[in-house]
Amino acid sequence: MDKFSLKDIKKLNYSGVYHYIYQHDLAAKQAIANDLSMSLPTVTQHLNTLLEKGLIVQNGSLNSSIGRKATAYSIVADSKLTIGVEILKQRLTIVGVDLRGNTVNVKTRDIPYDNSDSYYQAVSKEILSFIHDLNVREDQVLGIGFGLQGLVSQDGEEIIYGKVLGCTGITIRVFKQYLDYPCRFVHDAECAAICELWDNPQLQDAMYLSLGYHMGGALIINGAVSNGRTGRTGTIEHMTLVPDGLDCYCGQKGCVECYCSALSLLTRHKDLESFFQDLQAQKKTAQNHWRSYLEYLAITINNLHMTIDCDIILGGHVAPYLQSTDLDFLHRRIREITAFPEHDTFIFLGARKKHAVSIGAALPYIRTYLEQI
Ligand SMILES: [Zn+2]
Repeated sequence: MDKFSLKDIKKLNYSGVYHYIYQHDLAAKQAIANDLSMSLPTVTQHLNTLLEKGLIVQNGSLNSSIGRKATAYSIVADSKLTIGVEILKQRLTIVGVDLRGNTVNVKTRDIPYDNSDSYYQAVSKEILSFIHDLNVREDQVLGIGFGLQGLVSQDGEEIIYGKVLGCTGITIRVFKQYLDYPCRFVHDAECAAICELWDNPQLQDAMYLSLGYHMGGALIINGAVSNGRTGRTGTIEHMTLVPDGLDCYCGQKGCVECYCSALSLLTRHKDLESFFQDLQAQKKTAQNHWRSYLEYLAITINNLHMTIDCDIILGGHVAPYLQSTDLDFLHRRIREITAFPEHDTFIFLGARKKHAVSIGAALPYIRTYLEQI
């Protein structure tokens, strides 16, 4: 009987009112009271507390059942913000994300990664100036997530495998010493999957394939990213696709990475833009290369699909260039090579076209904050 104290119930009601407004964009007092089975004085009390804390505002009016206009309330999306950072070999992207998961600002800098104190200091300086430009109070910033190409310890404190950047073994202290905010690392493919889950909350089971400059993958099970026993789940980039094939940075040969990453398309082109321009101009070399890329991708997806019978979501730097004809080709090829009759459409493009990694690195702080309101 005494499982919940009066304080717990009050907290639950207060939290319920906030989340109701969050979910409805605009909400009126009477509707909150009706839908949450609360008395009007209780709702008023919670609304006042939320208004005092600056978490909600009065925002216009709504039609009410008794004909009079009722005051509408909405959440203050930027009452708290999170910073997401994507660290690539040659580039840095910093985003500010509000409580609705919207990007409030973006900054990119061409700062090549280097495992040195001067690099971490320079990046921290960029982040602090980014926060300064957002014109927010220090306590409005919930934390800073760093998305990068590497496997991360469960607590987000350490890079346990970072061969692409050469950062295995670094701890979050490299940034924490300069940034007085909660900080953590997040594996970049996991970031992209987190972003997908945010944009598509109905998603239950899926394999997210990040066709980035370096490839990555993340397995989504029951609406959450599954990391496995040692954080290696989803690292499909190192599955062997061609025995004794091309050299992979992991030290092995013929990994999926060598045939399906964005970098694998750049043997004759300086960037993806110029590759896809040539493809559009129907240049033979680009056409042949693209055809073989899709062939390898079809084999990879088919293998994954037989291991886990779920949707496959394609994201990463190549994804914005994928046409519906490419997805049709993949489906068609897979139907030809798979062991079972396959009629359904199961390959989709990710929802967020840009900055999925940096935004995904920021989102866990927002989710935790919303959960504890
Ligand atoms: Zn490999």
